[in-house]
Amino acid sequence: MAKRVLLDCRDFPNEIDCTLVISGKLKEVMKISLRHAVEEHGHKKYSRAEKTNQSND
Ligand SMILES: [Zn+2]
Repeated sequence: MAKRVLLDCRDFPNEIDCTLVISGKLKEVMKISLRHAVEEHGHKKYSRAEKTNQSND
């Protein structure tokens, strides 16, 4: 059985007082939490600098 990780929105500061808990495989949680943070919490998307290519910028 795949191990599940838990992400609790209360652990992160957010202006909408979100109390959502996201649970699932790490890969799933990462994917959903990123989208959730951007769409619901109003976080900005990660810049392209996040990629491994550091030759630019
Ligand atoms: Zn949230």
